[in-house]
Amino acid sequence: MNALAQRLAGLIRAQGPLSVAQFMALALMDPDYGYYTQQDPFGADGDFITAPEVSQMFGELLGLWLVQAWRNQGSASALRLIELGPGRGTMMADVLRAAARVAPEFVAAAEVTLIEASPRLRAAQQQRLATAPVTVSWSPTLKLEALSGPLFVLANEFFDALPVRQFLRVGEKWHERVVTVGRQGVLEFAIAPMAAQALAPTPGRPPAQDGDLFELCPSGLALCENLAATIARQGGAALIIDYGYDGKVGFGDTLQALRTHHPVPVLADPGEADVTAHVDFAALALSARHGGAAVYGPRPQGAFLTALGIGPRCAALARSTPDAATVLRRQLDRLCAEDQMGQLFKALALLPQHAPRPDGF
Ligand code: SAH
Repeated sequence: MNALAQRLAGLIRAQGPLSVAQFMALALMDPDYGYYTQQDPFGADGDFITAPEVSQMFGELLGLWLVQAWRNQGSASALRLIELGPGRGTMMADVLRAAARVAPEFVAAAEVTLIEASPRLRAAQQQRLATAPVTVSWSPTLKLEALSGPLFVLANEFFDALPVRQFLRVGEKWHERVVTVGRQGVLEFAIAPMAAQALAPTPGRPPAQDGDLFELCPSGLALCENLAATIARQGGAALIIDYGYDGKVGFGDTLQALRTHHPVPVLADPGEADVTAHVDFAALALSARHGGAAVYGPRPQGAFLTALGIGPRCAALARSTPDAATVLRRQLDRLCAEDQMGQLFKALALLPQHAPRPDGF
């Protein structure tokens, strides 16, 4: 057992089993041993590659998307540009570069806030954005009540890192899945003996059957509803991109741990692997509507980027740098092909009710 597993076992012995969400939060964010506090997860030698790390085209297209949404709502002279979980800061750098090319006024009007819980990644972002032509500030959590004016928010692969609770269908009831210490002294899953009261999975799914597993991401849903309410009131837009499911899917366990691009058992060596869960886009969309925003999507990433013009953008880049043409083509494929990130990843946009339909939806 590694140091974090021992710490968790001590916690469980002292106060009882952890919910899967508590386990996930500590595995990712424990101040001493958490995955995001300790590791640099990204890139070819990291544990996974995200879209902005695949290609600059991704962040550039999102930058142009933001500029269009801002223009559609009257080109406010002051705005907040917020990114949730910016990783290495690559995407924000690409967003700002592309936006500055078409609308320097947008960049001049923007005050950038990066929401990052990991001190280590925050340092990487600081370095990456040191020469950016904007004021950038950081916060470990999003404090919406402190932000006035229109908010333009991006979140790529952020919601999948937010802790989920899991519930198992036993007969007619849902019981929470928990993490406990087994007889061998190691962490293991168990099922809470008492049923969870009044738990109601998002409508649209087939009826639950004995043995089904339902995931609920309370912090993600609350954040989405608050974002929606603030944007509905103050103007702006939020674009959430992540991997996940939509609509009439069945139930299932999507919790996974990845280490150097390979799945590993979730409870083994906590803090050493990235732990995520698929995003329930139907539930997010419902929360956003509840918050009062107009909701667009979820639309598969491939279709979304294609509608934003990734094809012509790729061709133009390939013309100006012919040596890179093959690499660019591969990047486009990675982002858009159905058997790669094109179908599993989805984009969801939240806007004020009166705003025009955003690009790409
Ligand atoms: N958006 C980046 C990184 C995705 S990884 C990219 O696409 O490359 C998830 C990011 O969210 C990391 O920066 C991680 O440190 C941050 N993060 C995860 N959970 C968080 C939380 N609860 N609060 C703030 N930041 C969080």
